[in-house]
Amino acid sequence: MNPRGLKNSPCNSGSGALLPYGRQSIDEEDIAAVAAVLRSEWLTTGPIVSRFEEAVAQFCGARSGVAVSSGTAALHTAMYAAGIGPGNEVIVPPITFAATANAVIFQGGTPVFADVQTETLLLDPAAAERAITPRTKAIVAVDYAGQPCDYRELQSICRRHGLVLIADACHSLGASYRGRAVGSLADLTVFSFHPVKHITTGEGGMVLTDCPDFLDRMRAFRNHGITTDHRQRSERGSWFYEMQDLGYNYRITDFQCALGLSQLPKLPDWLARRRALAEQYVRAFADVPFVRPLRLRSGRTHAYHLFAVRIGFAQSGADRNMLFQKMRDLGIGVNVHYIPVHLHPYYQNRWGTAPGLCPVAEAAYEQLLTLPLFPAMTDADVERVAAAVTELIEESGQQLEAVHDSSR
Ligand SMILES: *Cc1c(COP(=O)(O)O)cnc(C)c1O
Repeated sequence: MNPRGLKNSPCNSGSGALLPYGRQSIDEEDIAAVAAVLRSEWLTTGPIVSRFEEAVAQFCGARSGVAVSSGTAALHTAMYAAGIGPGNEVIVPPITFAATANAVIFQGGTPVFADVQTETLLLDPAAAERAITPRTKAIVAVDYAGQPCDYRELQSICRRHGLVLIADACHSLGASYRGRAVGSLADLTVFSFHPVKHITTGEGGMVLTDCPDFLDRMRAFRNHGITTDHRQRSERGSWFYEMQDLGYNYRITDFQCALGLSQLPKLPDWLARRRALAEQYVRAFADVPFVRPLRLRSGRTHAYHLFAVRIGFAQSGADRNMLFQKMRDLGIGVNVHYIPVHLHPYYQNRWGTAPGLCPVAEAAYEQLLTLPLFPAMTDADVERVAAAVTELIEESGQQLEAVHDSSR
């Protein structure tokens, strides 16, 4: 019995009243791995950080990784590696978490919003190319919901214009594009290990790269711009260090990386489970008008961080808003990803962005609804969520038809 005196039904996966849109999976093995590090010599910047970096890089087909304290820190670190500074523009899509664009500003650069494609909500390569100016230095591809962007087109644009391609792959760990893993598709690839993402370190993030120069810059950046860490100095028996550039404390601890390292081998099963649940949603909505899952493009595997659908009869957002409220009332933790970044008051006030800048993203936003999806969900959970959406949509459809009939 949970605190509200209700029996746990399979629908809430034993967690309490609300079926969340996402949740971590932690087992006793994970806990033991963390505890072992707490009993060891190094709590931070020790051997487990390097082991985690190597394991993630290997899993993703990249040469090296730099683990940091969050996905946001990883984005900032990637912007630094790419040499973003005052006067530089970086092209970003609006359908993403605000941190994607914020990281450009952290380095003194200017985020420039380019619209997404209607059916996938992935950055439109043509829109990105149109946004290029002599000041553009990088493009950020966001693999929204877990589907890789059009990397072939984006790579070719970046090559033609001499730009750095950064992948915000916080949704797409374990996805692939034309047989290549996410992590090997851009100059710099950023992951988050927040509990809602595919694997977790509590808070944490990583940047993958094949470029040794980027790697050195990023290792220094996460440690105040200092070119050796205290473990290297301890091993060499030396006190000397130099700060070569301005950096931050973006270090991650060894016990966090122990959690990540323990989670990583489970990722393939979790991805398979996410895909199976997503397919169950797609089948459930196949004949439901006005509930449209996003399109999966050919040549890609999807990591399904999110299962997002577009809802509605109207462009106004009324149907989505109604459904959001009624689903929450039923104890189903739906969500909305994302409010287009350029519509946040900070961006409108400080950067002069306004509605109309990215019409595809803005129209999609009115209709977007994220349904619960995480590996520990049961088939019955998905069935219940899909049935609730279908019922509520049919109800509202009948009301619309009734209004239509009576006005005739
Ligand atoms: C989660 C996320 C981030 C930020 O990661 P944190 O670890 O929360 O700092 C950045 N971009 C996207 C697309 C994300 O989903």
